[in-house]
Amino acid sequence: MSFFGNASGNNSKSKNREKYKELTLAIKQIVLERSKNRCQNCSKKLSGSTQPQFYYVNGSKKDNRPENLRALCSECYEDRSPKHKNNLFSSIKKILSRN
Ligand SMILES: [Zn+2]
Repeated sequence: MSFFGNASGNNSKSKNREKYKELTLAIKQIVLERSKNRCQNCSKKLSGSTQPQFYYVNGSKKDNRPENLRALCSECYEDRSPKHKNNLFSSIKKILSRN
């Protein structure tokens, strides 16, 4: 089984689906280059201590096409992921910091 070996056939669409099945480093680089290494929500620079997070626009984690991905800082990423594990904790943190 090879992603690159089978050049025969004109089934390029299903091939693309294979290609974008996983979030690879190459895909991350495309998304980061497009966003100029900045959070696409708050424009914070994504480097060093600010690790980029990848948000799925259509919600499908099997759809790793660059156009379905947004590079976000971890804060914006958590804001956009209501089902995130740490959501309860971060909302408590928000309530506390408001007072
Ligand atoms: Zn941000």
